[in-house]
Amino acid sequence: MRPEILFPLYAPVRTLSGVGPRLSTVIEKLAGPNIVDLCWHLPNGLVDRRYSPKVHDAVPSTIATVTVQVMEHHPPRIRRLPYKVTCSDDSGVLELVFFHARNDYLLKVLPVGETRVISGKIEHFQGNVQMTHPDHIVKPSEAKDLLTVEPVYPLTAGLTSKPLNKVIKESLRLAAPLPEWQDPAWLKKNRGPSWLEALQVVHAPEEDDDLSPQAPARIRLAYDELLADQLALSIVRATQRKKSGRVINQDTGLLQKATASLPFELTNSQKVSLDEILSDMAEPFRMLRLLQGDVGSGKTVVAFLAMLRAVEAGAQGAVMAPTEVLAKQHFKTISELADKIGVTVGILTGRDKGKARQALLNQLAEGEISIIVGTHALFQADVQFNDLALAVIDEQHRFGVHQRLMLADKGAAADMLVMTATPIPRTLMLCAYSDLDSSRLTDKPVGRKPIETRALPVERLEDVVGRLATAIDTGARAFWVCPLVDESELVDLEAATDRHAFLNRRFPGRVGLIHGQMKGPEKDRVMAAFAAGEIDILVATTVIEVGVDIPEASIMVIEHAERFGLSQLHQLRGRVGRGERNSSCLLLYAPPLGETARARLNILRETDDGFLIAEEDLRLRGAGEMLGTRQSGLPVFRLADIAKHQDLMLAARDDARLILERDPGLSSERGKALRVLLYLFEKDSVVQTLRSG
Ligand code: ADP
Ligand code: MG
Repeated sequence: MRPEILFPLYAPVRTLSGVGPRLSTVIEKLAGPNIVDLCWHLPNGLVDRRYSPKVHDAVPSTIATVTVQVMEHHPPRIRRLPYKVTCSDDSGVLELVFFHARNDYLLKVLPVGETRVISGKIEHFQGNVQMTHPDHIVKPSEAKDLLTVEPVYPLTAGLTSKPLNKVIKESLRLAAPLPEWQDPAWLKKNRGPSWLEALQVVHAPEEDDDLSPQAPARIRLAYDELLADQLALSIVRATQRKKSGRVINQDTGLLQKATASLPFELTNSQKVSLDEILSDMAEPFRMLRLLQGDVGSGKTVVAFLAMLRAVEAGAQGAVMAPTEVLAKQHFKTISELADKIGVTVGILTGRDKGKARQALLNQLAEGEISIIVGTHALFQADVQFNDLALAVIDEQHRFGVHQRLMLADKGAAADMLVMTATPIPRTLMLCAYSDLDSSRLTDKPVGRKPIETRALPVERLEDVVGRLATAIDTGARAFWVCPLVDESELVDLEAATDRHAFLNRRFPGRVGLIHGQMKGPEKDRVMAAFAAGEIDILVATTVIEVGVDIPEASIMVIEHAERFGLSQLHQLRGRVGRGERNSSCLLLYAPPLGETARARLNILRETDDGFLIAEEDLRLRGAGEMLGTRQSGLPVFRLADIAKHQDLMLAARDDARLILERDPGLSSERGKALRVLLYLFEKDSVVQTLRSG
């Protein structure tokens, strides 16, 4: 149970005074449902209201707080003209300007003859000093609260700064001191304030430096969050390890036979990774391992060979892919190899229905199928295995942890291998994914040719089309990718449809279109036509990002490349360069390029190393890209910044290990405080496993 000391923080936002249903709904959308979420809604700017000149001396375009007497109201004669109120001090006249004003309201807050303290932006207009829509109008007795630095918070539609600032202030008042969970030595070294002080300080910035991720109070809060995260992960990992798995180490020669029958030699990192996987399988605990490697680095083959070890033990293997296209492709790769050695492979997608599906399920339950490939259809309750020993998930960052565990639950203590084509930067791997072991495919199969990558402004579209025409004359095939223009897939689709029409006029009958809204069979038909060379150009929305294998395609055109993340561009580029031809990737961008976009395109031109690109991607990621981060499957933090606080992540990881080594039950004085920390960051279920374990 959550400790009582945290109850006030976990009260719903609507319990705050002055927060009705409308306000609580927008606040919930912006920050979260509880008071604590407001405490963690950190300012990203500030307004200094301490400048309090005489009206005459006030510098134009600055924020000033002036003390004036209200002289006269001038309601407009016509509705669309502004309402003006003349005020003055002994130095001059200040005109307040209001559009669409409510007269009675203005008369109430600005009574003629009274003194008011007014804060807002000073403007000079036609020789007058004026202020349009002052931010604040208060009585002289309240001036002290106004003459400060005001934090500026991220807002959302339907919420203005005044009510938000007010409720955040109130939330902070509800925060009480908590027991110190951080190591005193660490605090001292980082000039770290206590939790409560830190919270108060981050919400009361006085200068821009206070808003930096490196400000001591921000570091303190970020470190709290990271430590909670690392502790939780370490605890989960320890329990995971304790879960007994099974020993899968029979060698009937099948695996060797399969390796010998491969039409190629395994790369060195394929061999190393396979060894790592096989030795995990041979251990009596449950494997949870990540296999990382660029598209085309040969992950599927490694997974196939590992599944054969399960088959040798008389058990089964399963591969789950994020899309139907990809499932089919895995099925093709795997069944070609499996046929040669007499291993039965099946495929199950959402498209399989009725009798055929039932027959397949029976075979699976009877153990007549040794390896099954599928989509998330494999999760369905009626999918029963005879004996699942190895579950392989081709993640591509489309699945969550929850789904991972669901597939493993289909087997008695099944081992789990997660494949990902988006290499995870080392720091993040060590931290965010420290519940997983990892193998990396760093070398590419021999014979892969480098891809020539060029960036061109979109004005050169005609040149690109001309080049394309020449290449197609010599038998080349090309992907043409149109990006996510908008959150809405329909707008997205429009861009791709237009481009398809445009290209089709230039290459009549030779251009296909594929997008996310198409039904499976339709997609298959287009892909098949492209693979067979019936069409030469395939216009696509980003659906092709996840795995299509068309070795004949040697040209990749990416429109609006500036809108894609670095890793995403790298993934797309990986779709070519797999066949005999020299390949190229053309990155079309709409100028002017921002600094980050330019850096991204340069990195792509310079390297083809997915691991290096992942590091750079993280480095270039700004806070503004948090949405993209969410989609990419990277961890999301409220207070920590995965790009700017990498050193803290590593420190938190070491700290968590040390803590659990010394005090595995978190029962010491500090341990008890750390439990509060875990609850503070809603790791309730983790604390529960501690108690029962
Ligand atoms: P990934 O799953 O990492 O995208 P795949 O396993 O699908 O890569 O491999 C891509 C292609 O490369 C397949 O056609 C596969 O047969 C081939 N391949 C895999 N390993 C090697 C290797 N060591 N040498 C040559 N070709 C390989
Ligand atoms: Mg693959």
